Amino acid sequence: MRPLVPNDDKPIGRRAICCSCTRRELTSRSVSCCGANRTHRAGRAEGLSAAAAAMSRLRSALYRGKKTTLEMTDTTTAVRKRSKAAVKEEETTDPAPSTYHTFQDRADVVLLRSQLLHWYDKGKRELPWRTVAMTEPDLNIRTYAVWVSEIMLQQTQVATVIDYYNKWMKRWPTVQDLAAATLEEVNQMWAGLGYYSRGKRLHEGAQKVVSELKGQMPRTVESLLKQLPGVGRYTAGAIGSIALGQVTGVVDGNVIRVLCRTRAIGADSTSPAVTEALWGLANTLVDPERPGDFNQAMMELGARVCTPKSPLCGQCPIQSHCRSYRKVCVKQEKNSKRLLGKLDRISSALPDIEDCTSGGKCPLCPAEPWDDELGVQNFPRKPGKKPPRVERTLTCVVVRSVEDGEDEYLLTQRPSKGLLAGMWEFPSLLLEEENSEMKQKGALCAEISRMLGVQVNQSLFKYIGEVVHSFSHIHQTYVVYHVCLKEGADTQTPENTQWLTRSALQEAAVSTGVKKILKLYDSAENQEERPSKDGKRKKTTGVKDDKKPQTSKKAKLSAANSGTRQLYLSSFFKTVKEES
Ligand code: SF4
Ligand code: ZN
Repeated sequence: MRPLVPNDDKPIGRRAICCSCTRRELTSRSVSCCGANRTHRAGRAEGLSAAAAAMSRLRSALYRGKKTTLEMTDTTTAVRKRSKAAVKEEETTDPAPSTYHTFQDRADVVLLRSQLLHWYDKGKRELPWRTVAMTEPDLNIRTYAVWVSEIMLQQTQVATVIDYYNKWMKRWPTVQDLAAATLEEVNQMWAGLGYYSRGKRLHEGAQKVVSELKGQMPRTVESLLKQLPGVGRYTAGAIGSIALGQVTGVVDGNVIRVLCRTRAIGADSTSPAVTEALWGLANTLVDPERPGDFNQAMMELGARVCTPKSPLCGQCPIQSHCRSYRKVCVKQEKNSKRLLGKLDRISSALPDIEDCTSGGKCPLCPAEPWDDELGVQNFPRKPGKKPPRVERTLTCVVVRSVEDGEDEYLLTQRPSKGLLAGMWEFPSLLLEEENSEMKQKGALCAEISRMLGVQVNQSLFKYIGEVVHSFSHIHQTYVVYHVCLKEGADTQTPENTQWLTRSALQEAAVSTGVKKILKLYDSAENQEERPSKDGKRKKTTGVKDDKKPQTSKKAKLSAANSGTRQLYLSSFFKTVKEES
């Protein structure tokens, strides 16, 4: 799982990308550096001329020389630039974090980089987007490919993303191909990945690149951040370092955990002080020669070794730099000696536990005391999670039988903004308060009759069960009904609704919640199905008294003017009451 770091709009400072050069220099150097590293790593000559590679190495050497002095002075440089008054104010209100939480020794940083990259080179997972980033010579395609992978990986497991990614890149191998697709096609391809707005933003971004940027993907972290919708500080850094070779750290959920444990940062990991400290650490540690690999190695370490609940410290390549691991070892040793009654005698021989020198004022130290049972999992601390909103929604599987053909299902399209924007679902009503089954049927019957322009018989609605589906912020329960309409019923199909066969429904842009509802419907149908004399399933007509469906102008007009499709059930009852 790779938790999403919320996008934010703060620009990454120039220091985050490069400590010494101007933006123009940075752009050309970064791209060249990236090419040189790729050529070296993959043992390939293509994609970079020998002259460019030599130039790149020279630039790298120059860069390293400058960075030697600059990379360890991030904090001091910033402090020097601040006014005396500002410094004074900070001293009294917001004490600077102790060096306990940073890397002071350059040799430590160099060692950590090499240990981590060695571990990564030996056992990294082969992933399709990594292959593209390593081998694709076209900068535009490479940047686009990494962008797609980063958006897909937000809050979705790597194993799930691989298949989606391969299909996506096969269908839309370039940003131009994606821009030419329809949102409907994008939603269809995205179905099952969750957070449909991410696919929508990718699509919008591709159209922007084609229409406003002459088809050229942005080439710097700053421009990625500024010009692509849905790209925040983390995503811009990831694309910039992996695809463009820009020297910038990244901070996602995995990196937060590794850094908090390594430097014993235990304050709320979402607080501004911790966030800035983590970005500072990431930018200090990132390897200037292999920024993309280094960032991926940090994330992979968090995903495979420094995991949330079962950290494998014994296999960790950067264990020697880890303050929380050291703290656990020293505490364990002291505890065992204490049990043996030998503490006094040997305590002087044990290494001191380094501790934060800021005392109780440190913005990075945990407010809670150390818990021996948690071990390294004392870090990081998360704020209490807001419980998800609880919602109940009435939904109805409306089926229409078709002569000599497959049954068809009625689907309506959600609004173009908000949750599951533009996705298709069964007709639904948000249930604001609990009502009797009769009232629920009445509400669904009225809504579907209005939608189709026919009076559907309320008694034909059947309750078939409930389906629970959780979104990140909503705990949704669908209260599911079913109604079957007579073959050939003269129904209308208003805008934003469609009848789909079962096979078309499987391919449509529908959410996982809809698929769960369909599964419930199938199992209810299997239980209830009773063959008639001719062996075929007998269907009820669905239209009241089997009379000719109501297709009056008034009914059609009312359906066409319905506007908001998803009504609140309580307002429906209110309306009925007022009208009666
Ligand atoms: Fe994480 Fe353990 Fe490695 Fe520290 S030693 S970084 S806690 S896996
Ligand atoms: Zn501290």
